[in-house]
Amino acid sequence: MILTEFDYVRPVGLDEALTLLAGTRGARVLAGGQSLLPGLRTGENAFGADGVRLLVDIRGLDELGGIARGPGGLRIGSLTTLAELAADPLVLAGAPELAAAARANGDPQVRNLGTVGGNLAAPGRATDLPVAAIAADATVELAGPGGRSAVSAEEFAAGGAPARSVVTALLVPDAGRAGAFEKTADRATRYPVCAAAVRITADGPRIAVTGATPRALRLRGVEDRLRGGPYTTEAVLAAFRGEPRELFVPGRGTSAEYLGHLAGVLTARALAKAGAIA
Ligand SMILES: Cc1cc2nc3c(=O)[nH]c(=O)nc-3n(C[C@H](O)[C@H](O)[C@H](O)COP(=O)(O)OP(=O)(O)OC[C@H]3O[C@@H](n4cnc5c(N)ncnc54)[C@H](O)[C@@H]3O)c2cc1C
Repeated sequence: MILTEFDYVRPVGLDEALTLLAGTRGARVLAGGQSLLPGLRTGENAFGADGVRLLVDIRGLDELGGIARGPGGLRIGSLTTLAELAADPLVLAGAPELAAAARANGDPQVRNLGTVGGNLAAPGRATDLPVAAIAADATVELAGPGGRSAVSAEEFAAGGAPARSVVTALLVPDAGRAGAFEKTADRATRYPVCAAAVRITADGPRIAVTGATPRALRLRGVEDRLRGGPYTTEAVLAAFRGEPRELFVPGRGTSAEYLGHLAGVLTARALAKAGAIA
């Protein structure tokens, strides 16, 4: 049961959605509803002081759908569902870490309804796509009161979705030879206890971790310690031991030491999957 009272509107275009978001206190974007609606049911306080007064349902906005290949890489519309992302041939070929992160997300119902924009923007707890987007060096495209803008997936994960903005697309560059994603899921919810994503580039692997850390983070210290190789599981675990313990946030029944080790194990598995560890 949802105890909050709110209004609901289905705009016919992005401009109308932006006008509603700009002009109404407590207006929130509604996409697949797979984070927002459970949050409203539990009274989760992740929606700020204004709470939720108006749901702006963007699911009818065709301009936010579709996956296309452009000159520099992939453009993934924010309304792409997680199920579509997991199965799309362009994504499987050009951004396998994103496809794997989508496949690992929740259950079939969540993947059929949940969207790329929603999984990137969901506040409050670690989700799967941001870490894969950071490893892939992706950019989040936004539309807001000030017009169109773009921020790196890393900046977006640090700052969250800007108020009154709509994520319109995720842009994934072609750079890199291979990518992979590995996760240890919470058994009840499937959310990540820890997840690691890697993208192999000419400069070495780009490595990002979430769940074990306060938010999805690129681990440049680990990348630097591994630079030049040889890439082995032991070298990866040693590189993670070089990170400050405070980086890893103990959770329910998990210590910082455990999470730091788990992040190393998952990263080594992802590197093996991407072909960097024999
Ligand atoms: C049973 C269950 C299991 C789950 N397991 C996992 C899991 O294993 N891993 C995981 O990562 N997640 C998991 N989730 C969460 C879920 O996958 C995603 O967070 C969800 O799909 C978000 O997408 P959505 O379209 O449903 O967003 P919504 O719920 O509609 O919105 C989520 C948030 O993002 C904002 N938002 C949505 N779209 C946009 C946009 N285009 N622009 C700006 N803001 C936007 C909304 O205002 C809201 O704050 C699970 C959820 C459930 C119910």
